[in-house]
Amino acid sequence: MSRQIEAALKPGDYRIITTANSKELITHAKDADVIFTEIPEGLRFIRPIKGPLIIGITKTSDEAVLQQASKAGINDVLRTPIIPTEVLIKTENCLRVKSALIHLENEIKNLETIIEVTSIVSSTLNPKEILFLVVKKISEIIPVTRCSIIRIDSETRYALVISSFENPKIGGIKLDLKKYPEIMQAITSRKPVVIKDVDTDPIMKGVRDIICNLGIRSILVLPIIFKDEVIGTLFLRTSRSGRSFADEEIKLCHAIANASANALNNAFLYEKMESEMLRLERLAITDFLTGIYNIRYFYHRLEEEFSRSQRYASPISCLMFDIDHFKQINDTYGHKRGDMALRELSTVLKKSVRKSDILARYGGEEFILLLPNTNLDGAKAEAERIRDTIKKHVFKSLKGERKITISIGIAALPHKKIQASDDLITCADSALFKAKKSGRNQVVIFS
Ligand code: GH3
Ligand code: MG
Ligand code: MG
Repeated sequence: MSRQIEAALKPGDYRIITTANSKELITHAKDADVIFTEIPEGLRFIRPIKGPLIIGITKTSDEAVLQQASKAGINDVLRTPIIPTEVLIKTENCLRVKSALIHLENEIKNLETIIEVTSIVSSTLNPKEILFLVVKKISEIIPVTRCSIIRIDSETRYALVISSFENPKIGGIKLDLKKYPEIMQAITSRKPVVIKDVDTDPIMKGVRDIICNLGIRSILVLPIIFKDEVIGTLFLRTSRSGRSFADEEIKLCHAIANASANALNNAFLYEKMESEMLRLERLAITDFLTGIYNIRYFYHRLEEEFSRSQRYASPISCLMFDIDHFKQINDTYGHKRGDMALRELSTVLKKSVRKSDILARYGGEEFILLLPNTNLDGAKAEAERIRDTIKKHVFKSLKGERKITISIGIAALPHKKIQASDDLITCADSALFKAKKSGRNQVVIFS
């Protein structure tokens, strides 16, 4: 029988495997599209087989046997004696059905993916997390080596990698679009760009050498359009050892790109808001003239550090500075130059203190420095060092003609008169007053 089937199918047109062994049948069934088996003998072997379509061969017209065959999962029946054309027609028909089934299965899978992506992008997660889940999902269903979402800034025309499945923590790697003609093409044409083979595609001409070295074979770029503007692209690449993108995959990615537009726009707004918030936060704690901390921030940190110092019985010191005869500087050089000198002095002070110290402008030409974990001896050494640095500094804003000196008052814990954080400032101020009284350009300790 099998010889007759083989002859009808003309060896060479189809790949035919013949077996009389049930174990072998199951092994081969994985790769087969159509199986021929005799009714009723072969029925018991085909039960566990899923995937290929099955044509039963029989000479019987017995209703019961045919019903049994139908129950066993037979898709079609071929009568003996065998007519070669009938074999051919039934085989071709089964192959068509099989291919339609595969197509349908893929469509269902893609639809499920789109539903999943839609539910991800409408979730309440942070937009960046959403975009990461989107690229992760794509890379799960399409064998790509790289998959990223890239944001395009329409004003500056620069591109930023917002999300990439290879690296979840990726944050704003800048791309030079001159090196990515395929992305440029997607932006200007507003249509998907498919590079089947980077070796031969004319779009890649200028960058072929670089791309070839990366071992990339195919590239797919899908524009992400929000309110009629290309705000980004979905960017997929396969390796040399892999294959190119199938039409269905391109269609699927197109749908995902459309679904991601909102999330990408939100990520962009979110980022803008975050950086604006950071800017405002920084502004709120900065002194506008000198750029060092303002007194409001100093008080806030003083509270924290003072209670920490009391809790752990750790030392803490406070230095209060005042520029000597600053009125004369203003009188000689003018208020504007005076401002510049204040800024310059702040920069010098900032450079000479430790990162853990808190330096702020107390007001006018007075500064305050908090030294956590520093005892009186440490504070005194620090104060002398700072006084010396300022004394030696040649002020560019004063054309190098005039030196500036400062007086410093120090208060430190433990001290019986210092019980609250405010006392630390009052006592440092009182020591500063003494320093002024005793002739300026000196350090005085509150005792
Ligand atoms: P000393 O502290 O040594 O007693 O003398 P002084 O001349 O520095 O006197 P005092 O500290 O009382 O006065 C501070 C002067 O600093 C008064 C004011 O003209 C000047 N000043 C305060 N804030 C600013 C500022 O923001 N810019 C400028 N240019 N000058 C300021
Ligand atoms: Mg003063
Ligand atoms: Mg002064």
